[in-house]
Amino acid sequence: MKLKCPTCGREYDEPVQRCECGEPVEFKLFEGEPYIAKTVWERFYDFWPVEPAMELSLGEGDTPLVKSRIGRELGVRLYLKNETANPTWSFKDRGTFLAVSYAVKAGYGAVGTVSTGNMAASVAAYAARAGLKAKILVSESASDEKLKAVGVYGADVIRVKGDYGRLYFESLKLGEKLGVYFINSDNPFRVEGYKGIAFEIAEEITPDYVLIPTSSGGLFRGIAKGFIELRESGLIEEIPTLVAVQAEGCSPICRAFSEGKERIGRFENPKTIAKAIANPYPPSGNAVLKLLREFGWKCLSVSDEEILEAQRKLAGEGIFVQPASATGVAALEKLVEGGGIEEGAKIVSILTGSGLKTLATAGQGNARECPLEGLENCVSF
Ligand SMILES: *Cc1c(COP(=O)(O)O)cnc(C)c1O
Repeated sequence: MKLKCPTCGREYDEPVQRCECGEPVEFKLFEGEPYIAKTVWERFYDFWPVEPAMELSLGEGDTPLVKSRIGRELGVRLYLKNETANPTWSFKDRGTFLAVSYAVKAGYGAVGTVSTGNMAASVAAYAARAGLKAKILVSESASDEKLKAVGVYGADVIRVKGDYGRLYFESLKLGEKLGVYFINSDNPFRVEGYKGIAFEIAEEITPDYVLIPTSSGGLFRGIAKGFIELRESGLIEEIPTLVAVQAEGCSPICRAFSEGKERIGRFENPKTIAKAIANPYPPSGNAVLKLLREFGWKCLSVSDEEILEAQRKLAGEGIFVQPASATGVAALEKLVEGGGIEEGAKIVSILTGSGLKTLATAGQGNARECPLEGLENCVSF
């Protein structure tokens, strides 16, 4: 504690009240690198189970909540939580950041995951950031195109031949043996990181419904836990109705829910354009079922055509998402038609990841050619 008299320049180590010269003293000018808390990790500091290692942050979280035109004709107010604005273009970064914070603190030298898409890129990026080795296990059929976005971060990418469903459990066992911290789809720290989505929404509005694209169930559990903790701590009064949204071609959770089952069953021959939510045997499926039942929440599934239509509508508003991320908006009509929704209800749809990751399914574009001499003709209406 250094004080200084601005009048005579005398310095003090103890917090004296006034200088010996009779004038007031003050603390010395701040020097060094200022640390100004402003992120969701800092605003909601008490809610995380491990200290967020801010030096490892890539700026994940604090994504925009955008008011949408979609839904007006249905008489509801739709808001889009744009998670494509994360460092590797999906919400996975929130969970990866917190889990890597833990892995570093716990002294691991390597992290890993089982994924082909967004989670693989996210874990590879944060491993690079933290100076950890990364082991990314992918299925035999993963496309080279997708894996480029993982390899660029320097991760060790391993194509595993064999039952992809067993890989989740095998990786956890092997990780324990070899000292690799596996951050799979519903890793507990990953799920905690997703709570930030609920916190940020609650800072801006009090939604009636939240539409959540659901595959493994990690995201759904994280958002649910976030709202539950906000209510338990008295920061909000009511928890919104959460809606798990799945693709019709792979909807093990919605199927078990509508059949009144306690446990999910494997969804045979999954087929959907929404690859990021095509887990046929979700590891958090039973946990999501339990939440849906306990809180009286909903599960809706949508067809590939409805997904593509929603993707186009979002692009028409200037937001390009991947098919999996359009499922929430695709389910909007069903939600409203299902009844019981009040006029002007506030609905948030989580836009989970960017469309630039799935260009192959994004259509042909619509560029036309024009000779320079005829430019006016081409540009005029
Ligand atoms: C991972 C992912 C989901 C689903 O999240 P789960 O935690 O597996 O339920 C949805 N959309 C996108 C784009 C994803 O990458």
